[in-house]
Amino acid sequence: MGGLRDHESVSELVRRLTAALPPEAVLSRPEERLVYACDGQTLHPGEADVVVLPSSTAEVVAALRVARDLGVPVVPRGAGTGLSGGAIAAHGGVLLGTARMKTILAVDPVERRARLQPGVVNIDVSRAAAPHGLRFAPDPSSQVACTIGGNVAENSGGPHTLRLGVTTNHVTGLVLVTADAEVHRLGECAESPTTADDGLIGAIVGSEGLFGVVTEIVVRLVPGAEEVRTFLASYRSVADAARAVAAVIAAGVVPAAVELMDRLAVRAVEEHARAGFPLDAEAVLLVELEGSVAEVDALQEPVLAALRAHAAIDARAAEDDDHRARMWNGRKQALGALGKISRGYYTHDGVVPPSRLAEALERIAEIGRRYGLRIASVNHAGDGNLHPLILFDRADADELRRAADAGREILSTCLDLGGSLTGEHGVGSEKRELLDRQFDEPTRALFARLRRAFDPDERMNPGKLFPSGSRCGEGRVPLGTKAARGGWL
Ligand SMILES: Cc1cc2nc3c(=O)[nH]c(=O)nc-3n(C[C@H](O)[C@H](O)[C@H](O)COP(=O)(O)OP(=O)(O)OC[C@H]3O[C@@H](n4cnc5c(N)ncnc54)[C@H](O)[C@@H]3O)c2cc1C
Repeated sequence: MGGLRDHESVSELVRRLTAALPPEAVLSRPEERLVYACDGQTLHPGEADVVVLPSSTAEVVAALRVARDLGVPVVPRGAGTGLSGGAIAAHGGVLLGTARMKTILAVDPVERRARLQPGVVNIDVSRAAAPHGLRFAPDPSSQVACTIGGNVAENSGGPHTLRLGVTTNHVTGLVLVTADAEVHRLGECAESPTTADDGLIGAIVGSEGLFGVVTEIVVRLVPGAEEVRTFLASYRSVADAARAVAAVIAAGVVPAAVELMDRLAVRAVEEHARAGFPLDAEAVLLVELEGSVAEVDALQEPVLAALRAHAAIDARAAEDDDHRARMWNGRKQALGALGKISRGYYTHDGVVPPSRLAEALERIAEIGRRYGLRIASVNHAGDGNLHPLILFDRADADELRRAADAGREILSTCLDLGGSLTGEHGVGSEKRELLDRQFDEPTRALFARLRRAFDPDERMNPGKLFPSGSRCGEGRVPLGTKAARGGWL
Protein backbone atom coordinates (compact mmCIF):
# COMPACT_ATOMS: atom_id res chain seq x y z
CA MET A 1 0.00 0.00 0.00
CA GLY A 2 2.88 2.32 0.82
CA GLY A 3 3.81 2.85 -2.84
CA LEU A 4 0.42 4.39 -3.62
CA ARG A 5 1.10 7.52 -1.57
CA ASP A 6 3.31 10.15 -3.07
CA HIS A 7 6.41 11.21 -1.24
CA GLU A 8 5.37 14.86 -1.10
CA SER A 9 2.06 14.11 0.67
CA VAL A 10 3.74 11.90 3.27
CA SER A 11 6.47 14.48 3.93
CA GLU A 12 3.81 17.15 4.47
CA LEU A 13 1.93 14.84 6.86
CA VAL A 14 5.07 14.13 8.91
CA ARG A 15 6.06 17.81 8.94
CA ARG A 16 2.67 18.90 10.28
CA LEU A 17 2.49 16.15 12.89
CA THR A 18 5.99 17.00 14.11
CA ALA A 19 4.92 20.62 14.48
CA ALA A 20 1.78 19.63 16.43
CA LEU A 21 3.22 16.98 18.79
CA PRO A 22 6.34 16.52 20.95
CA PRO A 23 9.22 15.20 18.80
CA GLU A 24 9.35 11.84 20.60
CA ALA A 25 5.67 11.24 19.72
CA VAL A 26 6.23 11.00 15.95
CA LEU A 27 7.91 7.95 14.39
CA SER A 28 8.48 8.05 10.65
CA ARG A 29 11.60 6.00 9.90
CA PRO A 30 10.84 2.68 8.10
CA GLU A 31 12.41 0.58 10.88
CA GLU A 32 10.23 2.38 13.46
CA ARG A 33 7.05 1.86 11.46
CA LEU A 34 7.83 -1.79 10.73
CA VAL A 35 7.05 -2.72 14.35
CA TYR A 36 3.42 -1.73 13.72
CA ALA A 37 2.98 -3.61 10.42
CA CYS A 38 0.82 -6.35 11.90
CA ASP A 39 -0.97 -7.34 15.08
CA GLY A 40 -1.54 -10.79 16.58
CA GLN A 41 -2.98 -11.87 13.24
CA THR A 42 0.02 -11.76 10.93
CA LEU A 43 -1.68 -12.67 7.65
CA HIS A 44 -2.90 -9.13 6.85
CA PRO A 45 0.05 -6.73 7.28
CA GLY A 46 -0.30 -3.01 6.49
CA GLU A 47 2.21 -0.19 6.38
CA ALA A 48 1.54 3.11 8.18
CA ASP A 49 3.11 6.26 6.72
CA VAL A 50 3.74 7.59 10.18
CA VAL A 51 3.17 6.42 13.75
CA VAL A 52 2.15 8.86 16.46
CA LEU A 53 2.23 8.17 20.19
CA PRO A 54 0.26 10.93 21.94
CA SER A 55 0.14 11.07 25.73
CA SER A 56 -3.13 12.97 26.32
CA THR A 57 -6.55 13.67 24.82
CA ALA A 58 -5.21 17.09 23.74
CA GLU A 59 -2.39 15.44 21.78
CA VAL A 60 -4.84 13.00 20.17
CA VAL A 61 -6.93 16.00 19.10
CA ALA A 62 -3.81 17.69 17.68
CA ALA A 63 -2.92 14.58 15.64
CA LEU A 64 -6.49 14.11 14.40
CA ARG A 65 -6.68 17.77 13.31
CA VAL A 66 -3.67 17.24 11.07
CA ALA A 67 -5.14 14.03 9.67
CA ARG A 68 -8.51 15.76 9.13
CA ASP A 69 -6.95 18.72 7.33
CA LEU A 70 -4.99 16.45 4.99
CA GLY A 71 -7.77 13.85 4.58
CA VAL A 72 -5.58 11.04 5.89
CA PRO A 73 -6.78 7.77 7.49
CA VAL A 74 -6.14 7.14 11.19
CA VAL A 75 -5.78 3.72 12.78
CA PRO A 76 -5.98 3.51 16.60
CA ARG A 77 -3.81 0.87 18.22
CA GLY A 78 -3.30 -0.43 21.74
CA ALA A 79 -0.85 -3.27 22.38
CA GLY A 80 -1.40 -4.93 18.99
CA THR A 81 -2.51 -8.25 20.52
CA GLY A 82 -5.71 -8.23 18.44
CA LEU A 83 -6.29 -11.41 16.44
CA SER A 84 -8.32 -10.11 13.48
CA GLY A 85 -5.91 -7.67 11.81
CA GLY A 86 -7.77 -4.68 13.28
CA ALA A 87 -4.85 -2.49 14.39
CA ILE A 88 -2.92 -2.34 11.12
CA ALA A 89 -2.83 0.52 8.62
CA ALA A 90 -4.56 -1.21 5.70
CA HIS A 91 -4.67 2.08 3.75
CA GLY A 92 -1.52 3.66 5.17
CA GLY A 93 -1.88 7.02 6.87
CA VAL A 94 -1.44 7.66 10.60
CA LEU A 95 -1.21 4.82 13.08
CA LEU A 96 -2.09 6.27 16.48
CA GLY A 97 -0.70 4.15 19.31
CA THR A 98 -1.79 4.56 22.94
CA ALA A 99 1.41 3.19 24.52
CA ARG A 100 2.12 6.53 26.24
CA MET A 101 -1.46 6.91 27.55
CA LYS A 102 -1.12 4.39 30.37
CA THR A 103 -2.03 6.33 33.49
CA ILE A 104 -4.58 4.98 35.95
CA LEU A 105 -6.22 8.33 36.62
CA ALA A 106 -8.29 7.27 39.65
CA VAL A 107 -9.56 4.25 41.57
CA ASP A 108 -12.67 4.97 43.62
CA PRO A 109 -13.35 2.08 46.03
CA VAL A 110 -16.62 3.61 47.26
CA GLU A 111 -18.22 4.06 43.86
CA ARG A 112 -16.32 0.98 42.62
CA ARG A 113 -14.96 2.70 39.57
CA ALA A 114 -11.58 3.15 37.85
CA ARG A 115 -10.84 6.03 35.50
CA LEU A 116 -8.23 5.05 32.94
CA GLN A 117 -6.26 6.23 29.97
CA PRO A 118 -6.74 3.80 27.06
CA GLY A 119 -3.19 2.42 27.06
CA VAL A 120 -3.50 1.00 30.60
CA VAL A 121 -2.77 -2.73 30.48
CA ASN A 122 -5.79 -4.84 31.46
CA ILE A 123 -4.20 -6.66 34.39
CA ASP A 124 -2.93 -3.41 35.91
CA VAL A 125 -6.53 -2.32 36.58
CA SER A 126 -7.17 -5.35 38.79
CA ARG A 127 -3.77 -4.91 40.42
CA ALA A 128 -4.62 -1.30 41.31
CA ALA A 129 -8.07 -2.32 42.58
CA ALA A 130 -6.89 -5.37 44.58
CA PRO A 131 -5.97 -3.46 47.79
CA HIS A 132 -9.66 -2.47 47.97
CA GLY A 133 -10.89 -6.05 47.46
CA LEU A 134 -12.02 -5.16 43.92
CA ARG A 135 -11.13 -6.22 40.37
CA PHE A 136 -11.94 -5.52 36.72
CA ALA A 137 -13.94 -8.57 35.60
CA PRO A 138 -13.07 -8.91 31.87
CA ASP A 139 -9.88 -10.97 31.82
CA PRO A 140 -8.73 -11.78 28.27
CA SER A 141 -6.03 -14.43 28.23
CA SER A 142 -3.79 -11.70 26.81
CA GLN A 143 -4.43 -9.52 29.89
CA VAL A 144 -0.76 -9.12 30.78
CA ALA A 145 -0.29 -7.18 27.53
CA CYS A 146 -3.57 -5.96 26.01
CA THR A 147 -4.92 -2.50 26.77
CA ILE A 148 -8.24 -1.24 28.04
CA GLY A 149 -8.66 0.80 24.84
CA GLY A 150 -8.26 -2.39 22.80
CA ASN A 151 -10.70 -4.20 25.13
CA VAL A 152 -13.27 -1.44 24.57
CA ALA A 153 -12.80 -1.45 20.80
CA GLU A 154 -13.15 -5.24 20.57
CA ASN A 155 -15.67 -5.66 23.41
CA SER A 156 -13.28 -8.25 24.79
CA GLY A 157 -14.22 -11.20 26.91
CA GLY A 158 -12.12 -13.73 28.76
CA PRO A 159 -12.34 -17.01 30.64
CA HIS A 160 -14.14 -15.31 33.54
CA THR A 161 -16.72 -13.26 31.65
CA LEU A 162 -19.35 -16.01 31.43
CA ARG A 163 -21.12 -14.94 34.62
CA LEU A 164 -20.13 -11.27 34.96
CA GLY A 165 -20.33 -10.24 31.31
CA VAL A 166 -17.85 -8.88 28.77
CA THR A 167 -16.34 -5.39 28.47
CA THR A 168 -19.57 -3.66 27.43
CA ASN A 169 -21.14 -4.67 30.75
CA HIS A 170 -18.39 -2.86 32.67
CA VAL A 171 -17.88 0.45 30.85
CA THR A 172 -19.75 3.39 32.36
CA GLY A 173 -18.00 6.34 30.73
CA LEU A 174 -15.91 7.16 27.67
CA VAL A 175 -14.12 10.05 26.03
CA LEU A 176 -14.13 9.63 22.26
CA VAL A 177 -12.26 11.84 19.80
CA THR A 178 -13.91 11.49 16.40
CA ALA A 179 -12.20 11.84 13.01
CA ASP A 180 -13.14 15.54 12.84
CA ALA A 181 -11.01 16.02 16.02
CA GLU A 182 -14.08 16.75 18.18
CA VAL A 183 -14.05 15.51 21.79
CA HIS A 184 -17.17 13.70 23.05
CA ARG A 185 -17.63 12.95 26.76
CA LEU A 186 -20.13 10.20 27.44
CA GLY A 187 -21.70 8.57 30.48
CA GLU A 188 -19.64 9.07 33.61
CA CYS A 189 -17.03 10.99 31.62
CA ALA A 190 -19.61 13.67 30.71
CA GLU A 191 -19.33 17.18 32.13
CA SER A 192 -22.73 16.56 33.71
CA PRO A 193 -23.01 12.78 34.07
CA THR A 194 -26.71 12.85 34.93
CA THR A 195 -27.59 14.16 31.48
CA ALA A 196 -25.37 11.69 29.66
CA ASP A 197 -26.77 9.42 27.00
CA ASP A 198 -25.38 6.02 27.90
CA GLY A 199 -26.95 4.46 24.80
CA LEU A 200 -24.04 5.72 22.72
CA ILE A 201 -21.49 3.92 24.87
CA GLY A 202 -23.06 0.62 23.88
CA ALA A 203 -22.58 1.48 20.21
CA ILE A 204 -18.95 2.55 20.67
CA VAL A 205 -17.86 -0.51 22.66
CA GLY A 206 -17.04 -3.11 20.02
CA SER A 207 -16.79 -0.63 17.13
CA GLU A 208 -13.22 -1.76 16.36
CA GLY A 209 -11.70 1.72 16.13
CA LEU A 210 -14.06 2.84 13.36
CA PHE A 211 -15.88 5.50 15.40
CA GLY A 212 -12.89 7.41 16.77
CA VAL A 213 -10.08 7.19 19.29
CA VAL A 214 -11.14 6.37 22.85
CA THR A 215 -8.94 8.51 25.10
CA GLU A 216 -10.44 7.91 28.54
CA ILE A 217 -12.55 5.14 30.04
CA VAL A 218 -14.45 4.70 33.31
CA VAL A 219 -14.97 1.06 34.24
CA ARG A 220 -16.98 -0.70 36.90
CA LEU A 221 -15.00 -2.67 39.49
CA VAL A 222 -16.48 -5.77 41.10
CA PRO A 223 -15.76 -7.21 44.54
CA GLY A 224 -13.78 -10.43 44.84
CA ALA A 225 -15.98 -13.44 45.63
CA GLU A 226 -16.19 -14.84 49.15
CA GLU A 227 -15.62 -18.33 47.77
CA VAL A 228 -14.03 -19.58 44.53
CA ARG A 229 -14.01 -23.29 43.71
CA THR A 230 -12.47 -24.78 40.58
CA PHE A 231 -13.22 -28.20 39.07
CA LEU A 232 -11.24 -30.22 36.58
CA ALA A 233 -12.95 -32.89 34.49
CA SER A 234 -11.39 -35.10 31.82
CA TYR A 235 -12.98 -37.05 28.94
CA ARG A 236 -12.22 -39.71 26.34
CA SER A 237 -13.64 -37.54 23.56
CA VAL A 238 -14.00 -33.82 22.85
CA ALA A 239 -17.68 -34.43 22.10
CA ASP A 240 -18.25 -35.91 25.59
CA ALA A 241 -16.63 -32.83 27.14
CA ALA A 242 -18.81 -30.58 25.00
CA ARG A 243 -21.94 -32.49 26.02
CA ALA A 244 -20.95 -32.06 29.66
CA VAL A 245 -20.75 -28.28 29.11
CA ALA A 246 -24.28 -28.29 27.69
CA ALA A 247 -25.38 -30.37 30.72
CA VAL A 248 -23.92 -27.80 33.15
CA ILE A 249 -25.74 -24.97 31.38
CA ALA A 250 -28.94 -27.03 31.13
CA ALA A 251 -28.75 -27.61 34.91
CA GLY A 252 -29.41 -23.89 35.26
CA VAL A 253 -25.97 -23.12 36.67
CA VAL A 254 -23.98 -20.14 35.35
CA PRO A 255 -20.41 -20.78 36.48
CA ALA A 256 -17.81 -18.01 36.53
CA ALA A 257 -15.89 -19.90 33.85
CA VAL A 258 -16.19 -23.02 31.69
CA GLU A 259 -13.11 -23.66 29.56
CA LEU A 260 -12.51 -26.63 27.26
CA MET A 261 -9.10 -27.68 25.93
CA ASP A 262 -8.39 -30.67 23.72
CA ARG A 263 -5.50 -33.13 23.96
CA LEU A 264 -3.22 -31.18 21.61
CA ALA A 265 -3.62 -27.98 23.61
CA VAL A 266 -3.24 -29.79 26.96
CA ARG A 267 -0.01 -31.49 25.88
CA ALA A 268 1.44 -28.16 24.69
CA VAL A 269 0.44 -26.48 27.97
CA GLU A 270 1.92 -29.26 30.08
CA GLU A 271 5.23 -29.13 28.20
CA HIS A 272 5.31 -25.35 28.60
CA ALA A 273 3.82 -24.65 32.02
CA ARG A 274 3.31 -27.92 34.03
CA ALA A 275 -0.21 -26.85 34.95
CA GLY A 276 -1.37 -30.21 36.32
CA PHE A 277 -3.77 -31.24 33.52
CA PRO A 278 -4.11 -35.01 32.82
CA LEU A 279 -2.27 -36.21 29.72
CA ASP A 280 -4.36 -39.32 29.13
CA ALA A 281 -7.59 -37.50 28.18
CA GLU A 282 -8.84 -36.31 24.77
CA ALA A 283 -10.31 -33.20 26.40
CA VAL A 284 -10.41 -31.41 29.76
CA LEU A 285 -12.89 -28.95 31.24
CA LEU A 286 -11.97 -26.27 33.73
CA VAL A 287 -15.08 -25.06 35.54
CA GLU A 288 -15.11 -22.39 38.21
CA LEU A 289 -17.87 -21.45 40.63
CA GLU A 290 -17.81 -18.29 42.64
CA GLY A 291 -20.15 -16.57 45.10
CA SER A 292 -20.92 -16.89 48.78
CA VAL A 293 -19.81 -20.11 50.49
CA ALA A 294 -23.46 -21.20 50.78
CA GLU A 295 -24.07 -20.53 47.10
CA VAL A 296 -20.98 -22.44 45.95
CA ASP A 297 -21.77 -25.33 48.32
CA ALA A 298 -25.26 -25.55 46.86
CA LEU A 299 -24.01 -25.57 43.25
CA GLN A 300 -21.12 -28.00 43.69
CA GLU A 301 -23.10 -31.27 43.48
CA PRO A 302 -25.27 -30.27 40.47
CA VAL A 303 -22.12 -29.19 38.62
CA LEU A 304 -20.19 -32.37 39.45
CA ALA A 305 -23.21 -34.46 38.47
CA ALA A 306 -23.45 -32.69 35.11
CA LEU A 307 -19.70 -33.04 34.53
CA ARG A 308 -19.89 -36.79 35.28
CA ALA A 309 -23.03 -37.43 33.23
CA HIS A 310 -21.11 -37.81 29.96
CA ALA A 311 -18.57 -40.57 30.53
CA ALA A 312 -16.06 -38.45 32.41
CA ILE A 313 -12.75 -40.17 33.18
CA ASP A 314 -12.58 -38.00 36.28
CA ALA A 315 -14.23 -34.88 37.70
CA ARG A 316 -13.01 -33.30 40.92
CA ALA A 317 -12.20 -30.06 42.67
CA ALA A 318 -8.73 -28.51 42.36
CA GLU A 319 -6.42 -29.89 45.04
CA ASP A 320 -5.57 -26.48 46.53
CA ASP A 321 -5.01 -22.82 45.64
CA ASP A 322 -1.65 -23.63 44.09
CA HIS A 323 -3.19 -26.27 41.77
CA ARG A 324 -5.97 -23.82 40.86
CA ALA A 325 -3.48 -21.04 40.09
CA ARG A 326 -1.29 -23.38 38.01
CA MET A 327 -4.26 -24.57 35.95
CA TRP A 328 -5.41 -21.02 35.20
CA ASN A 329 -1.89 -19.95 34.39
CA GLY A 330 -1.67 -22.93 32.01
CA ARG A 331 -5.00 -22.11 30.38
CA LYS A 332 -4.03 -18.47 29.89
CA GLN A 333 -0.71 -19.47 28.35
CA ALA A 334 -2.26 -22.03 26.00
CA LEU A 335 -1.79 -19.96 22.84
CA GLY A 336 1.85 -19.22 23.65
CA ALA A 337 2.40 -22.90 24.45
CA LEU A 338 0.99 -23.93 21.06
CA GLY A 339 3.36 -21.41 19.47
CA LYS A 340 6.22 -23.53 20.79
CA ILE A 341 5.08 -26.73 19.07
CA SER A 342 4.31 -25.24 15.65
CA ARG A 343 6.05 -22.77 13.34
CA GLY A 344 2.79 -20.85 13.07
CA TYR A 345 -0.82 -20.99 14.12
CA TYR A 346 -3.98 -19.28 13.05
CA THR A 347 -6.43 -18.52 15.90
CA HIS A 348 -10.09 -18.44 15.02
CA ASP A 349 -12.96 -17.07 17.05
CA GLY A 350 -16.39 -18.39 16.15
CA VAL A 351 -19.47 -18.90 18.28
CA VAL A 352 -22.08 -21.65 18.34
CA PRO A 353 -25.04 -22.17 20.66
CA PRO A 354 -23.79 -24.31 23.59
CA SER A 355 -26.28 -27.02 22.60
CA ARG A 356 -24.42 -27.41 19.24
CA LEU A 357 -20.92 -27.40 20.79
CA ALA A 358 -20.27 -31.14 20.42
CA GLU A 359 -21.38 -31.09 16.79
CA ALA A 360 -19.27 -28.02 16.05
CA LEU A 361 -16.11 -29.52 17.54
CA GLU A 362 -16.63 -32.80 15.66
CA ARG A 363 -17.07 -30.90 12.39
CA ILE A 364 -13.95 -28.80 13.07
CA ALA A 365 -11.93 -31.98 13.70
CA GLU A 366 -13.24 -33.37 10.40
CA ILE A 367 -12.19 -30.14 8.61
CA GLY A 368 -8.69 -30.56 10.07
CA ARG A 369 -8.48 -34.15 8.77
CA ARG A 370 -9.73 -33.17 5.33
CA TYR A 371 -7.21 -30.33 4.96
CA GLY A 372 -4.39 -32.40 6.50
CA LEU A 373 -3.86 -29.87 9.31
CA ARG A 374 -3.60 -30.17 13.09
CA ILE A 375 -6.24 -28.05 14.83
CA ALA A 376 -5.99 -27.47 18.58
CA SER A 377 -9.07 -26.45 20.52
CA VAL A 378 -9.06 -23.87 23.32
CA ASN A 379 -12.58 -22.68 24.01
CA HIS A 380 -14.62 -20.42 26.26
CA ALA A 381 -17.07 -23.30 26.06
CA GLY A 382 -19.72 -22.01 28.48
CA ASP A 383 -20.92 -19.40 26.01
CA GLY A 384 -20.08 -21.42 22.90
CA ASN A 385 -17.08 -19.26 21.99
CA LEU A 386 -14.67 -21.47 20.04
CA HIS A 387 -10.99 -20.81 19.46
CA PRO A 388 -9.77 -23.47 17.04
CA LEU A 389 -6.05 -22.94 16.45
CA ILE A 390 -4.91 -24.18 13.07
CA LEU A 391 -1.24 -25.16 13.21
CA PHE A 392 0.72 -24.57 10.03
CA ASP A 393 4.09 -23.65 8.59
CA ARG A 394 3.83 -20.32 6.81
CA ALA A 395 6.96 -21.06 4.78
CA ASP A 396 4.91 -23.76 3.05
CA ALA A 397 2.66 -21.87 0.61
CA ASP A 398 0.31 -24.80 0.15
CA GLU A 399 -0.10 -25.29 3.90
CA LEU A 400 -0.75 -21.56 4.33
CA ARG A 401 -3.49 -21.72 1.69
CA ARG A 402 -5.03 -24.79 3.31
CA ALA A 403 -4.96 -23.08 6.74
CA ALA A 404 -6.80 -20.06 5.31
CA ASP A 405 -9.38 -22.25 3.52
CA ALA A 406 -9.92 -24.43 6.59
CA GLY A 407 -10.41 -21.29 8.70
CA ARG A 408 -13.11 -20.00 6.37
CA GLU A 409 -14.83 -23.36 6.46
CA ILE A 410 -14.75 -23.38 10.27
CA LEU A 411 -16.41 -19.97 10.42
CA SER A 412 -19.02 -21.06 7.87
CA THR A 413 -19.72 -24.09 10.05
CA CYS A 414 -20.33 -21.82 13.06
CA LEU A 415 -22.83 -19.82 11.00
CA ASP A 416 -24.49 -23.00 9.70
CA LEU A 417 -25.00 -24.11 13.30
CA GLY A 418 -26.75 -20.87 14.20
CA GLY A 419 -23.69 -19.09 15.63
CA SER A 420 -21.60 -16.05 14.84
CA LEU A 421 -18.38 -15.09 12.99
CA THR A 422 -16.81 -13.64 16.10
CA GLY A 423 -17.22 -13.92 19.83
CA GLU A 424 -14.57 -11.51 21.02
CA HIS A 425 -11.71 -10.99 18.54
CA GLY A 426 -13.69 -8.80 16.16
CA VAL A 427 -14.06 -8.77 12.38
CA GLY A 428 -11.05 -6.57 11.53
CA SER A 429 -9.42 -7.17 8.14
CA GLU A 430 -9.71 -10.88 8.60
CA LYS A 431 -13.41 -11.65 8.49
CA ARG A 432 -14.91 -8.69 6.68
CA GLU A 433 -15.44 -10.61 3.44
CA LEU A 434 -17.61 -13.08 5.37
CA LEU A 435 -19.85 -10.42 6.92
CA ASP A 436 -22.55 -10.86 4.29
CA ARG A 437 -22.95 -14.48 5.39
CA GLN A 438 -24.10 -13.31 8.82
CA PHE A 439 -25.93 -10.06 8.09
CA ASP A 440 -28.31 -9.26 5.26
CA GLU A 441 -27.88 -6.21 3.04
CA PRO A 442 -30.30 -3.87 4.87
CA THR A 443 -28.58 -4.65 8.18
CA ARG A 444 -25.10 -4.05 6.72
CA ALA A 445 -26.38 -0.78 5.26
CA LEU A 446 -27.61 0.22 8.71
CA PHE A 447 -24.16 -0.49 10.18
CA ALA A 448 -22.62 1.64 7.43
CA ARG A 449 -25.00 4.53 8.18
CA LEU A 450 -24.14 4.35 11.86
CA ARG A 451 -20.44 4.45 11.03
CA ARG A 452 -20.92 7.53 8.82
CA ALA A 453 -22.77 9.28 11.64
CA PHE A 454 -19.46 9.18 13.54
CA ASP A 455 -17.12 9.49 10.57
CA PRO A 456 -18.72 10.71 7.32
CA ASP A 457 -15.46 10.38 5.33
CA GLU A 458 -14.70 6.88 6.66
CA ARG A 459 -11.15 7.81 7.56
CA MET A 460 -11.11 5.98 10.91
CA ASN A 461 -9.59 2.53 10.51
CA PRO A 462 -10.55 1.99 6.85
CA GLY A 463 -10.35 -1.49 5.38
CA LYS A 464 -11.82 -3.11 8.48
CA LEU A 465 -15.13 -4.68 9.39
CA PHE A 466 -17.02 -3.82 6.17
CA PRO A 467 -16.60 -5.99 3.05
CA SER A 468 -14.32 -4.29 0.50
CA GLY A 469 -17.08 -3.80 -2.09
CA SER A 470 -19.26 -1.93 0.38
CA ARG A 471 -16.66 0.58 1.54
CA CYS A 472 -18.48 3.75 0.70
CA GLY A 473 -15.28 5.79 1.00
CA GLU A 474 -13.82 4.13 -2.07
CA GLY A 475 -14.41 6.38 -5.04
CA ARG A 476 -16.28 8.94 -2.95
CA VAL A 477 -13.37 11.28 -2.21
CA PRO A 478 -13.68 14.12 -4.73
CA LEU A 479 -10.78 14.16 -7.16
CA GLY A 480 -8.38 16.96 -6.52
CA THR A 481 -8.69 16.82 -2.74
CA LYS A 482 -5.50 16.19 -0.85
CA ALA A 483 -6.70 12.77 0.20
CA ALA A 484 -7.27 11.69 -3.38
CA ARG A 485 -3.94 13.15 -4.57
CA GLY A 486 -2.08 11.50 -1.70
CA GLY A 487 -3.62 8.15 -2.65
CA TRP A 488 -4.86 7.34 0.83
CA LEU A 489 -8.51 6.65 0.15
C1 LIG B 1 -2.48 -14.93 23.41
C2 LIG B 1 -3.73 -14.13 23.18
C3 LIG B 1 -4.87 -14.43 23.93
C4 LIG B 1 -6.04 -13.67 23.76
N1 LIG B 1 -7.12 -13.95 24.53
C5 LIG B 1 -8.24 -13.21 24.40
C6 LIG B 1 -9.38 -13.47 25.23
O1 LIG B 1 -9.39 -14.35 26.09
N2 LIG B 1 -10.48 -12.70 25.04
C7 LIG B 1 -10.51 -11.70 24.11
O2 LIG B 1 -11.53 -11.01 23.99
N3 LIG B 1 -9.45 -11.44 23.31
C8 LIG B 1 -8.32 -12.16 23.44
N4 LIG B 1 -7.23 -11.89 22.64
C9 LIG B 1 -7.33 -10.83 21.60
C10 LIG B 1 -6.84 -9.44 22.04
O3 LIG B 1 -5.90 -9.54 23.09
C11 LIG B 1 -8.00 -8.52 22.46
O4 LIG B 1 -8.79 -8.25 21.31
C12 LIG B 1 -7.55 -7.20 23.08
O5 LIG B 1 -8.66 -6.49 23.58
C13 LIG B 1 -6.80 -6.30 22.11
O6 LIG B 1 -6.21 -5.26 22.87
P1 LIG B 1 -4.96 -4.45 22.28
O7 LIG B 1 -4.62 -3.37 23.24
O8 LIG B 1 -3.86 -5.37 21.95
O9 LIG B 1 -5.61 -3.83 20.98
P2 LIG B 1 -5.05 -3.76 19.50
O10 LIG B 1 -4.78 -5.13 18.99
O11 LIG B 1 -3.93 -2.80 19.44
O12 LIG B 1 -6.30 -3.15 18.74
C14 LIG B 1 -7.48 -3.89 18.60
C15 LIG B 1 -8.56 -3.02 17.96
O13 LIG B 1 -8.87 -1.98 18.85
C16 LIG B 1 -8.74 -0.70 18.22
N5 LIG B 1 -8.26 0.20 19.28
C17 LIG B 1 -7.22 0.01 20.12
N6 LIG B 1 -7.13 1.03 20.98
C18 LIG B 1 -8.13 1.90 20.68
C19 LIG B 1 -8.56 3.15 21.21
N7 LIG B 1 -7.95 3.74 22.24
N8 LIG B 1 -9.62 3.76 20.63
C20 LIG B 1 -10.28 3.19 19.60
N9 LIG B 1 -9.92 2.01 19.06
C21 LIG B 1 -8.86 1.36 19.60
C22 LIG B 1 -7.77 -0.94 17.08
O14 LIG B 1 -7.97 -0.03 16.02
C23 LIG B 1 -8.13 -2.36 16.67
O15 LIG B 1 -9.23 -2.33 15.79
C24 LIG B 1 -6.06 -12.62 22.79
C25 LIG B 1 -4.91 -12.33 22.04
C26 LIG B 1 -3.77 -13.08 22.23
C27 LIG B 1 -2.55 -12.73 21.41
